[in-house]
Amino acid sequence: MSAPRTRFAPSPTGSMHIGNVRNAVFSWLFARRHGGSFVLRIEDTDRSRLVEGAVAEIKEGLTWLGLDWDEGPVFQSGRLDIYREHARRLVDEGRAYRCWCSPERLAEMREEQKAAGRPTGYDRHCREDSHGRTEDEPHVIRFAMPLDGETSFHDEVRGDISFDNALIDDFVMIKADGFPTYQFASVVDDHLMQITHVIRSDEWVASTPKHVRLYEALGWEPPKFVHPSLILGPDRSKLSKRHGATSFVEFVERGYLPDALVNFLSLLGWSPRDDREVMTRDELIAAFDIEGMVNHPAVFDVQKLEWISRQHLRLLPDARLAALARPVLEARGLVSAPADPGADAYIAAVCGLMKERLTVLPDIADVAGYFFSDDFDYDEKGRKWFAGDGARDLFEALAEALQAVDWNEESIEAAIRAAGQTMGREGGRIIHPVRVAATGQTAGPSLFAALAVLGKERVTARLRRAGAYAEHINANH
Ligand code: GLU
Repeated sequence: MSAPRTRFAPSPTGSMHIGNVRNAVFSWLFARRHGGSFVLRIEDTDRSRLVEGAVAEIKEGLTWLGLDWDEGPVFQSGRLDIYREHARRLVDEGRAYRCWCSPERLAEMREEQKAAGRPTGYDRHCREDSHGRTEDEPHVIRFAMPLDGETSFHDEVRGDISFDNALIDDFVMIKADGFPTYQFASVVDDHLMQITHVIRSDEWVASTPKHVRLYEALGWEPPKFVHPSLILGPDRSKLSKRHGATSFVEFVERGYLPDALVNFLSLLGWSPRDDREVMTRDELIAAFDIEGMVNHPAVFDVQKLEWISRQHLRLLPDARLAALARPVLEARGLVSAPADPGADAYIAAVCGLMKERLTVLPDIADVAGYFFSDDFDYDEKGRKWFAGDGARDLFEALAEALQAVDWNEESIEAAIRAAGQTMGREGGRIIHPVRVAATGQTAGPSLFAALAVLGKERVTARLRRAGAYAEHINANH
């Protein structure tokens, strides 16, 4: 295949919907797979729906995801002359016409159609007759659809599709404000930008016959149309706000890694046709193809996203994870800026120990707080280890024994077990109290590995603190 050109063409009318981001992922993967180009086009022709900041969000979002674009952003609002020129040509050739019908007339017409139980649509009042109106008066330009017959096209995912022309309106190409509609501008741009594969939401399938007729009228070869599967919520209705987060920023804020999100989105309507699910970006690029796109709805399953997210966190080297974790830990006041090699090595060691417990990166601050702060309470369930007369002595003896130890996992374990034996304690009866004293928790990663990371100073101080606490509660009984 010669190098394909794909595009992402969002309208800056609000925050990016996760389903639309999926289309960007497909378009980007396809371009990268075949050494083609990925174009960013901002479809800002609906002036009443523009949302301030939306373009910045689109650019930041794509950048965050690592979906770099080769051209653009191209703003349609900067290309009005181009659309008008092509529209004028179609008017001159009789393929489009000017329409002066007022919004009031159109509303009245619709009411009458409804009352008569007929389908609503433009009645082609101006198609053959300008009714004495001139170009200087406010008007729109409409496309003259064939009145009968069918329009067919091939969709790379859905196969051959046909539409009855009689059911398609003489749609507006240029609005009264001089701006083009989506239908017209996207066709002109996809052609002029030499887009080879139009990958976009399924909601545009029904518009495609209009586009096909426009290409034909303009004398242009249409691109390949690719409408990936519809995305459903877990209850199998179309994914919407009711299903929870649907805007892309919510997933960024939750703390998913870009690679995990790209991986998850790529599997909504596509599969590598083997049993792989967790895939790095390079693996996705190498595997992505249109043949793997499926023609049935994809279910948006947050549990699957979380599973993929966990796998990606495990794939990260500790030092990389630590670099990502640092800002999270700083924000929680667990680590202070600026970065320094000693602190970063410590964060990396903590990440290595705790990464299997993370679903999203920010979880590190919840599960690993005791590595960074002494300010923790003893878990309710672990308090029993402080009760009884021997508790204070146990913690003191442990602190004493560990003070003298060469600080590595094996010697720590040996010293703790030996001290336990001297006091008639084995297994859980020595492990559990040490864990509660050193971490506040009753469960966690391998205890000896955790103590090795925590360091001698912290561990012995916490054991002494536990001894003092045992003395305090036993004195009050
Ligand atoms: N601006 C349209 C949208 O955001 C683009 C559709 C297309 O990709 O053609 O839905």
